[in-house]
Amino acid sequence: MSVIPIQQHPSPNFNDRRNGDHVTILVLHYTGMQSGEAALERLCDPAAEVSAHYLVEEDGRIFQLVDELKRAWHAGVGYWRGERDINSRSIGIEIVNPGHEFGYRAFPEAQMKAVEVLAAEIVTRHSIAPINVIGHSDLAPLRKEDPGELFDWARLARQGVGIWGPADKKADPTMAEFLADLEAIGYDMEDEPSVIVAFQRHWAPRQLHMGGNLATRQAARGLVNSLLT
Ligand SMILES: [Zn+2]
Repeated sequence: MSVIPIQQHPSPNFNDRRNGDHVTILVLHYTGMQSGEAALERLCDPAAEVSAHYLVEEDGRIFQLVDELKRAWHAGVGYWRGERDINSRSIGIEIVNPGHEFGYRAFPEAQMKAVEVLAAEIVTRHSIAPINVIGHSDLAPLRKEDPGELFDWARLARQGVGIWGPADKKADPTMAEFLADLEAIGYDMEDEPSVIVAFQRHWAPRQLHMGGNLATRQAARGLVNSLLT
């Protein structure tokens, strides 16, 4: 049960989780459409064959579309820390934002507050490990950019949702060590340049598109250090 108000808005787009699978991952998305209403409609349209467990509007309203026990269709083809059927293993939250295609903008305070509280409840309910609170772009770096570099992951981490740095300012990892760090964090290393961008969107947003520069390498090393402690 939740302590926050959640409106039920059922979607037909779900099926059973793979036999025996339980939830170990929380995936955050942005809707990437011109309005929240349009996104809600699409996520409930049987022809679209997409969904998520929750949608959070810019004004902070939360809609539940799919029961947490069921397998919503939000992740698609992807990989994270050994897992490929991400939908069977995850809860998906869609956060209303036009996205990079239609005018990417800051996530309003009311929306962030709602995401923060909802995500904290989910992480607690399912005992989700901090490193398994990820963006869509983390599990599909070649295809996806959401929720993007404006999303405040550090704020969520301060509330106990996900993991954040600190960067290891003393480290100077080689490129090979940096790539090994990214793999240890959980990425599929099939396309290295896109993995570096995905890492920056989540854990080093000020370094976005700067390649494997020192600050990015130190951020990755810092994250690996946190995982080991
Ligand atoms: Zn997405």
